[in-house]
Parts: sequence; structure tokens; C-alpha cells
Amino acid sequence: MGDAGGRTVVITGGSRGIGRSIAYRFAAEKGNVIIVHYDPDESASEETVQHIRESGATAESHKVDVASFEAVDVLFKNVLSRFDGVDVLVNNAGITQDTLLMRMSEAQWDAVLNINLKSVFNCTHAVIREMVRRKGGRIVNISSVVGQTGNAGQANYSASKAGILGFTKSVAKEVGARGITVNAVAPGFIETEMTEGLPEKAKKAFLAQIPLGRPGTTEEIAEAVYWLCSNGSRYITGQVLHVNGGMFG
Ligand code: NAP
Repeated sequence: MGDAGGRTVVITGGSRGIGRSIAYRFAAEKGNVIIVHYDPDESASEETVQHIRESGATAESHKVDVASFEAVDVLFKNVLSRFDGVDVLVNNAGITQDTLLMRMSEAQWDAVLNINLKSVFNCTHAVIREMVRRKGGRIVNISSVVGQTGNAGQANYSASKAGILGFTKSVAKEVGARGITVNAVAPGFIETEMTEGLPEKAKKAFLAQIPLGRPGTTEEIAEAVYWLCSNGSRYITGQVLHVNGGMFG
């Protein structure tokens, strides 16, 4: 139990988009919600924190590059020194830098792999020892449908999201005996700033593949993440939950 009575939850990329909805969903428990973001413009994270505090939970935001092993380690040492432990870790931070492989630079590959995949290692590594010691914890990693289907123009992004699945399944096997579950949620096409910039043609192509006939909402992803951290899913680990309107799975 955290200071505010509910669970202590760390959500990377919790300042906006899907991560913000996940933060709001956990805030309903009136626990401690800790969000991590990296944009020097703190307006989105401040708005998120303010909203959570108004709802009666405690909230704090940290400007940390999740791709940095050292910075993430310092962050979690700070968090663990002030709270009883981290009950839930949601590895959600992610970026895209889309282009065809032939045009992809090393920098584009490295940025996407480091922020999307190495970050999941960094944060999980920083928190897992404490979860093992406390014999409990929930970890949810946000992958993507394209981690399994692939997508032209997203070799870096798809590889990072596929990597998350192998990581999730491996760590689930390592820590299951300690009562810790590790799962992935793979969203389909969700309306956020990340997808706002997609060309109309690409958006139409995605929509045409969705049996439910519409993009998903950030709240629909948050519900799935929340459920994977609830008592009702306690016997589920190492799994990928597809939340994509039926487009794959
Ligand atoms: P978004 O609206 O662009 O938000 C991305 C979040 O990640 C922001 O809070 C951002 O905060 C944070 N972030 C980015 N780089 C960071 C870094 N280096 N260190 C710390 N935080 C960083 O994206 P979204 O659509 O909500 O996506 C959230 C997750 O869902 C991502 O992993 C994405 O790949 C995945 N996903 C999204 C969709 C979709 O259709 N939207 C589909 C499948 C999977 P700052 O800007 O402050 O850094």
C-alpha cells in the first residue's frame, strides 16, 4: 500500500495520449501515480498531475529520458526511497520515426529502439529487485499490433514493439514464482498525437482493416492495462492482450 492508501503506480509516457488515460484510470484508486515524460515543455505533464490531484489521488511527474539507464536508475532509487515500493509499472513511453528502410538512418533506428525497447529494460531492471523482495507486482508493457504484423515504413518501430514481446515473455518466466505478473498490451490504431500526424491515406488503410470500424480510444487501452493489474487477472502472465477492434489476433 502506498502513502495515499492505494497502489503506487509508475507510468512512463504518462503525460499525454494513452499514458495519460492509464494514469487517470489508476488515479481512481486514490493511490500514488507517478508519471515519467521527457519533453522540456512541462505543460502536458502538469495538466495530467493537476487532474489526478483534483481527483483525490497523489501524483508527481518526473522529466527523465527513459532511454537512459543511469537516469532511470536514479529515478527509481528516488521513488523507492519515498514509497513502500512500486506496485505497478506500466512501460508505455514510445515514439515513431517512420521511413522506409532504405532511407532509415542509424540515428532513426537507435532513437526508436532506445526509447521504445531499451527503456522497458531500464525501467523493469530498476524496479524488479524490489518487486522480487516484496513478492508481488504487476508490469504491463505497451507493444503494438505492428510488433506482430510488421508495417512498411516502420521497421524500427515494429522491431522495438516485437522486442517488447520477447522481453515480456522472458521476464514473466523469471519472476512468476515471486508472484509478479508481466504482460503486454498491443494496441491497434488509437487516436493520439502519435497517430494524428499520419497521412490520410495511411489512416484510411488502418481503418479499412478494423472490423469494429473505428479507431480505438486511449481509455479503451487504459481499461485493458488496468485489468491486467487487477486481482481478476492474477493468473495471467507472459501474455499479449490485443486491443485493436479485431484487426489482428
Ligand atoms: P504519444 O501521445 O505520442 O505520447 C508519448 C508519451 O511518451 C508522452 O507522454 C511522451 O512524453 C513520452 N515519451 C516520449 N519519449 C520519451 C522519453 N525519451 N522519455 C520519457 N518519456 C518519453 O503516444 P501514444 O499514442 O499515447 O503512445 C503510447 C504508447 O502506445 C507508445 O509506446 C506507442 O508506441 C504505443 N502505441 C500507440 C498506438 C497508437 O495508435 N497511438 C498504437 C500502438 C501502440 P514527452 O513528450 O513529455 O516526452
